[in-house]
Amino acid sequence: MKKLILSWLLFHANTYSSSKCFYAIKNKILEKYGRYFSDDVQFLEGKKCRCCGGSGIYVGYTWYSKRYEDCCRYCIDGWYHLPTYVILKKYQFGKYTFHQPYKSVPFKNPIPHAPLIEGYIEHKSTKYGSLAKDILYLLYDRTELGRGWYLKWYNPKYWINNLYHLFTRRLNSIPVRRVREKFKKKPEYKPLQPYTPCNDDDLPF
Ligand SMILES: [Zn+2]
Repeated sequence: MKKLILSWLLFHANTYSSSKCFYAIKNKILEKYGRYFSDDVQFLEGKKCRCCGGSGIYVGYTWYSKRYEDCCRYCIDGWYHLPTYVILKKYQFGKYTFHQPYKSVPFKNPIPHAPLIEGYIEHKSTKYGSLAKDILYLLYDRTELGRGWYLKWYNPKYWINNLYHLFTRRLNSIPVRRVREKFKKKPEYKPLQPYTPCNDDDLPF
């Protein structure tokens, strides 16, 4: 039963979150409960440098129009991003399959032997994504929970975050502070020195 719920939570949270904190939690859960069965390889296309047109050589001119060449400052051999292979560990957990990035291999190396996935894996975010993520945060790592306050508090997907924010910050929480600000008496305007009209007699000349 625990596995069933946890795998459901992880599946939905996975469609929503891609933060470092979440990946750490995902890793922990998959290591403990998931069943590793094979690898996949993801191919991420590189990006050529636009500054030097992918040549890696910067062409400049001195003030007396003499041409010179230099290494491009913005890239490595014309590559802004090197194409890479990312090896993903594939886990079975409950009825879902999960991919966990394991290590990346530069493209010059021989292609790792495994089924190939081109580009990024798209997750269609589901309705329960945010809620599932918050429950996992509540269970495993609360550092990212309750940092802010969602204005649309009536939406159930923000409840856990907002309640946690209220319970941990209490009087310092954002809605309480906002109400306090509203009812705070504004100080009355007082001129710094009372105004004294001067007569001609007072003038020093
Ligand atoms: Zn360049």
